[in-house]
Amino acid sequence: MNEIQIKDKRFTVSIPEADILKEVDRVAAEINRDLAGKNPLFLSVLNGSFMFTADLMKRIIIPCEVSFVKLASYQGVTSTGKVKEVIGITEDLTDRTVVIVEDIVDTGLTMQRLLETLGTRRPKEIHIATLLVKPEKLKVDLNIEYVAIHIPNDFIVGYGLDYDGLGRNYKDIYTVINEE
Ligand code: 5GP
Repeated sequence: MNEIQIKDKRFTVSIPEADILKEVDRVAAEINRDLAGKNPLFLSVLNGSFMFTADLMKRIIIPCEVSFVKLASYQGVTSTGKVKEVIGITEDLTDRTVVIVEDIVDTGLTMQRLLETLGTRRPKEIHIATLLVKPEKLKVDLNIEYVAIHIPNDFIVGYGLDYDGLGRNYKDIYTVINEE
């Protein structure tokens, strides 16, 4: 299945599962090395990061905990309009080593918002692990320590990421085909 159709868009495989998992192996090894003895709390940001989180956590061999948060969009009263609220943090983050597990960092605004919110809960340190980064689009200065794959500025689906709710189930990553 090299090409898929989702609604009005066609996509072609750009990162096969085997290539993704090779990079997930590497990121997991880095985390195992860096965070040993810190009992990190992995905070997976749903929905997009569910597949990455599962594959990553299977490779983490140090004592750790995993939990899940969600971002709820609502119309705020700020000048930019849209504000995202972090929901579902039930753990006490005080003095914890927290690892945010994200699917993709695009402009970085979502990650910045997460860092701000989690920072108010007095964690000892916050690390970022993301499956994908689009470096050309990054607008904010973020210290992203654990990146599986850097990708160009094209819209992708699969391996947890969706187009209008669809496509999260595919094991490979697909890039949109821009028909001129
Ligand atoms: P940011 O706040 O970094 O601009 O955006 C991050 C969010 O935008 C991601 O969590 C994801 O939901 C969405 N996003 C950005 N680029 C893509 C993409 O290429 N495909 C999909 N499916 N979602 C994307």
